[in-house]
Amino acid sequence: MSKCLICSTEISPFMSFGKMPIANGFLTPEQFPDEYFFELSPSFCPNCSMFQLDRQPEPQRMFHENYAFFSGTSARMAVHFREFAEHVKKDYLPGKDPFVAEVGCNDGIMLRNFSGWGIRHLGIEPSANVAAAANKQGVKTVCEFFGSELAEKIVKEHGQADAFLGANVMCHISGFNSVIAGIRKLLKPDGVAMFEEPYLGDVIEKTSYDQIYDEHVFLFSASSISYAFRQHGMELVDLEPQDTHGGSMRYIIAHSGARPVSGNVFRQLEKERALGLDKASTYELFRKNCEKSRDDLVSLLRGLKKEGACVAGYAATSKSTTILNYCGIGPDLIGFVSDTTPIKQGKFTPGTHIPVRPYEEFAARYPDYALLFAWNHAGEVMDNEKKFKEAGGKWITHVPQVRVLR
Ligand code: SAH
Ligand code: ZN
Repeated sequence: MSKCLICSTEISPFMSFGKMPIANGFLTPEQFPDEYFFELSPSFCPNCSMFQLDRQPEPQRMFHENYAFFSGTSARMAVHFREFAEHVKKDYLPGKDPFVAEVGCNDGIMLRNFSGWGIRHLGIEPSANVAAAANKQGVKTVCEFFGSELAEKIVKEHGQADAFLGANVMCHISGFNSVIAGIRKLLKPDGVAMFEEPYLGDVIEKTSYDQIYDEHVFLFSASSISYAFRQHGMELVDLEPQDTHGGSMRYIIAHSGARPVSGNVFRQLEKERALGLDKASTYELFRKNCEKSRDDLVSLLRGLKKEGACVAGYAATSKSTTILNYCGIGPDLIGFVSDTTPIKQGKFTPGTHIPVRPYEEFAARYPDYALLFAWNHAGEVMDNEKKFKEAGGKWITHVPQVRVLR
């Protein structure tokens, strides 16, 4: 039994993915003996509806000067964040000299738009290498973990914010109540918080269990977000579903009573009830679906090995760490994983120790099959990799079912 990170109800995990290393912890052979593992087991709180990890590594183990994920590597995401920024500017910054804060701004992929428009902004980013990349391109960034204390400091220095933004970061922070308390202090009375995160409903519907890894302490839904913010005098006023990262939800939050609540909120809460997101049986079925997905993937890869086919992994994503470790897939089944990020190249995948090779090696000698770990960027990848297909290469995906794409 553990206590829910949001409402302190006693809860216990409904399944375990087994021992997991740090998802972004690509490493060298010298580091193998000291590799850190923890048990990856999700729980669902029947009281506040929050889907969460039973245990998480300390944040400093994941977010530091060698953080391996650079947001700017995806051209599609750059467009996505430019559109997000334009939406904020047009619809939520009516006053003079507005101030925008973004938590987890990474290399500045979203804030650089505000910086370009000459809008006052501040990024909050604890991973020093990506924070430095943001500062370098003119995005004002402090290298810290966001929480209630830091919010006070920011208000003293910059005043309150018109918009508080976040993407793929709020679900990373186990001290979520402190984050909400911080947002409440930081936001002007008529300000809005807008953040988008992988959506629990999509994970359940698509069995995209690889969204569950150390950094994703939570998977949010409209129900859990409403509950969490209501406890702090704030409310969910609107929702904007996104197709990024395999299905995300953008939540729009205001001080309670400050803005009208859109019908979208009621409709989404209703949808979540219909999907059974509040029922234990839904998670029991999800567990079974994960086991089937694992067994199907392993038997497909074993079959291909028997045929003598060469299989590579495409993109050494953090999500792939859950797949590889949960399924027990090592270098015997996948020869190498191709990735364009220099910090990962020449290293090995966390836990299962498959070599990560520069993308150029993949392109120079195509494997017979490529397991698409970046399935959430499938459109962008397929556009870029027409030649692989023309050369007879085949894609394997595991979402929503394990299959070879024809
Ligand atoms: N917003 C970007 C980056 C997402 S990765 C995008 O969507 O592409 C998550 C980022 O959040 C990492 O850069 C990590 O360092 C940062 N982060 C983690 N915990 C944080 C915290 N408590 N406060 C602020 N940023 C945090
Ligand atoms: Zn709870």
